[in-house]
Amino acid sequence: MIEPDKNCSKCKRLKKFRDINIKKYPSWFNGAVPSIINKNSEILIVGLAPGLNGANKTGRPFTGDYAGLTLFHTLKKNGLLKGYYKEDGNDNLTLKNCSITNAVRCVPPKNLPKSDEIKNCENFLKSTISYHKNLKVIVALGLISHKSIIATFNLKQKDFKFGHSNKYNLSEKIKLLDSYHCSRYNINTKRLSQKMFDEIFIETKKILLN
Ligand code: URA
Repeated sequence: MIEPDKNCSKCKRLKKFRDINIKKYPSWFNGAVPSIINKNSEILIVGLAPGLNGANKTGRPFTGDYAGLTLFHTLKKNGLLKGYYKEDGNDNLTLKNCSITNAVRCVPPKNLPKSDEIKNCENFLKSTISYHKNLKVIVALGLISHKSIIATFNLKQKDFKFGHSNKYNLSEKIKLLDSYHCSRYNINTKRLSQKMFDEIFIETKKILLN
């Protein structure tokens, strides 16, 4: 599986932002964040990009920010996580039958990657997907993640509209399930409720039974 170097410099703007953060927060991870990989898992969750004070600080996807609290809580509730989660990553969590990655591996300013940065990271996503030989469901958290997944399968974006709980066949074996991103903004504005997010993982597990 191809992973970006911690100090990947494919995206000039993101590298520049990283260098600023290394100076400001020298004890933080400040690098391309590696995925949480369980090679045999049937589920792959794809987020957007590391949060500045979250994954960019701790070095683990979704660890340390609000989105992570929601995601790990929901995975635990739905039987996809064992152990406990701590915001600093000093915990003993293990994912059950799932892996977690991000469409973009380096923290972007204002949480917003540009289209060339998303494109630069697509190969890593592609490699992560093909590494999972038992993969049956990819859960896309948000539109950018959805579009990156469609791109890695060389499918036409116009045939795959993003929408919460939309479900598509990506290949004979792999389905895509869309979810609104579990960001603080989406939770606070009630675009995504806990019930809606739970339903995504209930549906994910149903797909595995087919
Ligand atoms: N942290 C991540 O690693 N990814 C997200 O999409 C949000 C927060």
